[in-house]
Amino acid sequence: MTFNTTLDSIKTYEAGKPIELVVREFGIPENEIVKLASNENPLGASPKAIEAIIQNACNAHLYPDDSMFALKKALSQFYKVQSNEIIIGSGSDQIIEFCIHAKANQKSKILMAKTTFAMYEVYAKAVGAEVIRTASHQHNLKEFLESYQQHKPEIIFLCIPNNPLGECLDSKETFDFLKQVDENCLIVIDGAYQEYAKAKDSTKAINPKTLIEIFPNAIYLGTFSKAYGLGGMRIGYGIAQQEIIQALLKLRPPFNLTTLSLAAALEALKDQEHIQKSLQNNLMQMPSFEGFAKEKGFLYTPSYTNFITYYFESPLDSTQIADYLLQRGMIIRNLASYGLNAIRITLGTHEQNKKFFTLFEQYLDER
Ligand SMILES: *Cc1c(COP(=O)(O)O)cnc(C)c1O
Repeated sequence: MTFNTTLDSIKTYEAGKPIELVVREFGIPENEIVKLASNENPLGASPKAIEAIIQNACNAHLYPDDSMFALKKALSQFYKVQSNEIIIGSGSDQIIEFCIHAKANQKSKILMAKTTFAMYEVYAKAVGAEVIRTASHQHNLKEFLESYQQHKPEIIFLCIPNNPLGECLDSKETFDFLKQVDENCLIVIDGAYQEYAKAKDSTKAINPKTLIEIFPNAIYLGTFSKAYGLGGMRIGYGIAQQEIIQALLKLRPPFNLTTLSLAAALEALKDQEHIQKSLQNNLMQMPSFEGFAKEKGFLYTPSYTNFITYYFESPLDSTQIADYLLQRGMIIRNLASYGLNAIRITLGTHEQNKKFFTLFEQYLDER
């Protein structure tokens, strides 16, 4: 069978390996496996969100509230925007997809950093759009401006902070850049790790309300998958002026979130104490990862997220390291598919991180 030729250039997205795979392939008991690969919250979801999932299980036969009234209202109060300035998706991944479908086609150009979230490219290529990347791996606004002026893209993706590298643009500099972009260019600010950035350095915080007040062509994306610990429930959202939201809503399939997801997100948002605890754990664990890199002589990007990226020099090889750790029940993310000799490690609990350092030491000793 033949398929759309746009699929020819798409590489299937390689998600963080699931725990079940390590159980199957290496026969390691599930409780001995540590997954530090998908930037999940090691403290789990708020207990109140878990309780809401259980409480709502008896409504599994009913379709969810398709207007998502309660969650939109809660998000609108949290961010001090209007409910009709919010769209909710099955993960913010789905909102990325809507943005591209609403704005791009095979004649379009889409601008992004050289090394950034892989799904931007997948959805861009699916509509046949041309992907333009800046020269530097990390976000560099001077390069973005030059590329913007040269190519006049339909969409610009800024991942703030950036996955998988961990760097974070300054919010004032970002706003200065956005002022130079034409109003017909859609600017997507992916804030999947904004909670972590804001906790570390307030000058990195992007306020969605301020953003959309100044820029009618910008959309802010948030997710419940990272700091909120609900990756398994698939909830993300976009915040923009009504014109953008109304365009995206045309592409939204009905009932794109489950009753359980909506209930969980609502409780998770209320439980800010749990978020603070999660952000504190992250801030406390980060120095040991930086210290380990310094001690071993690896380069790393100072991170504004809940992960850190280590870069290696030959003969150290990220694929070999990732395989070694995987076979011993430690799942981390190899960045070889990004063309980097690097790994990305999600910060876990103190115990999980200790296990990572021990196994890595062991690898270095055995070489
Ligand atoms: C995890 C992530 C997302 C979206 O995750 P969802 O689970 O689909 O909400 C979006 N952007 C970046 C950069 C991410 O790391």
